[in-house]
Amino acid sequence: MTSYWLSEPSPQRSDVHVDNPDVAVIGGGVTGCAAALRLAQAGKRVRLYDARGIAEGASGRNGGFALRGMPAAFDVTTESEGEESARAMMAWTERAIDTIESLAGDSFRRVGSLRLAVDEEERDELRAEYEALVAAGFVAEWIERFEPPLAGRFTAALHHVPDGVLQPARWVRRLAGLAAEAGVEIREHTRVESLEELVGATVVVCTDGYPSGLLGEIEGLIIPTRGQVIATEPVPERFFEVPHYGRHGFDYWHQAEDGRIVAGGFRDVSFDSEFTADEQLTDPVQTALHAFVNDLMGRELRVDYAWAGIFGMVMDFLPVVGRVPGLDNVWVAGGYSGHGNVLGFACGELVASAALGNVEPLLPHFDPARLLNADD
Ligand SMILES: Cc1cc2nc3c(=O)[nH]c(=O)nc-3n(C[C@H](O)[C@H](O)[C@H](O)COP(=O)(O)OP(=O)(O)OC[C@H]3O[C@@H](n4cnc5c(N)ncnc54)[C@H](O)[C@@H]3O)c2cc1C
Repeated sequence: MTSYWLSEPSPQRSDVHVDNPDVAVIGGGVTGCAAALRLAQAGKRVRLYDARGIAEGASGRNGGFALRGMPAAFDVTTESEGEESARAMMAWTERAIDTIESLAGDSFRRVGSLRLAVDEEERDELRAEYEALVAAGFVAEWIERFEPPLAGRFTAALHHVPDGVLQPARWVRRLAGLAAEAGVEIREHTRVESLEELVGATVVVCTDGYPSGLLGEIEGLIIPTRGQVIATEPVPERFFEVPHYGRHGFDYWHQAEDGRIVAGGFRDVSFDSEFTADEQLTDPVQTALHAFVNDLMGRELRVDYAWAGIFGMVMDFLPVVGRVPGLDNVWVAGGYSGHGNVLGFACGELVASAALGNVEPLLPHFDPARLLNADD
């Protein structure tokens, strides 16, 4: 049940105490750490709380893919949000990857990502996204020829050149270290049970899929969804330097620095049971993941790590960032629908900026109040 990423020891951080904080940030993942850092840099007295340790939520349990864009494909976002806004969102996440690269040291590698098509239908979808990206001036490549072990399995791939891969726990712990250096007090293993504990402070809730109990009317509308991951024994061949993901993102894998294959997904083998906030592993998903990796490599590999994490699903595939409806001085950033490594960092900065009084142009697209008006 241990995340391979979290098995690495956590570095020391400055020990900071803040009296009478102006802002309480709830959640010590990528979003909360990014928000806290930005708020402290703006001169606020900030205290960050997490019920566990830093990065011990989804931020230290994910696949490690650092992807540009929204959870939906670029052409789909263009359709729903309009061309100018979709372009602005894409460019904003590309800038976030640049910032991550500048801060993350050896926890980030800029290797691109490969979105793979398993059949003609997926190939057509990827081709439409590729053409929309190129027409809008974004860098992308179309691939139709594959070497083993990919050859014969996939019909085409969209290469997102600016993407990368993270050791996500190392990255977020580093980000927390930067926040502490900027003056943020970090209180780990402290669950905030109610907003009444935080009277007098602006509150920024950054808990993505983990139910916080602090979101009033929108509690539960960012739907907790389980993802399961395995890491195999190290393998000497280096086939998957780049994040690979196929079947609409239901399968994803790459190789960690030491050669282990880190593979996740297969939620769709028991779809309904995976809408949960319980981090329990399940046989159907674990068996499917192990069989997939063995098949890919043509031999039985040992699984050294297996774990689960919870992410927040939102049915329109846009993040949720802004004031919490019906609550004074409470803000939220979350709901990245499994796409939060880059988007979480960007939205942490965005919610901090909003709480400081800046209305950035993208903010209305992410308004939490829309969840109350959704049809389903
Ligand atoms: C298995 C899996 C694979 C994924 N793969 C990818 C990927 O490859 N690429 C990608 O971009 N995204 C991926 N994601 C999504 C991504 O990991 C998340 O969207 C992102 O990490 C969310 O970060 P966060 O800081 O918002 O929340 P989290 O990192 O989940 O942190 C939330 C924290 O809030 C704390 N908390 C909750 N309530 C309270 C409370 N009341 N008081 C105090 N603390 C509280 C929790 O303890 C938790 O630590 C994946 C997610 C999972 C689960």
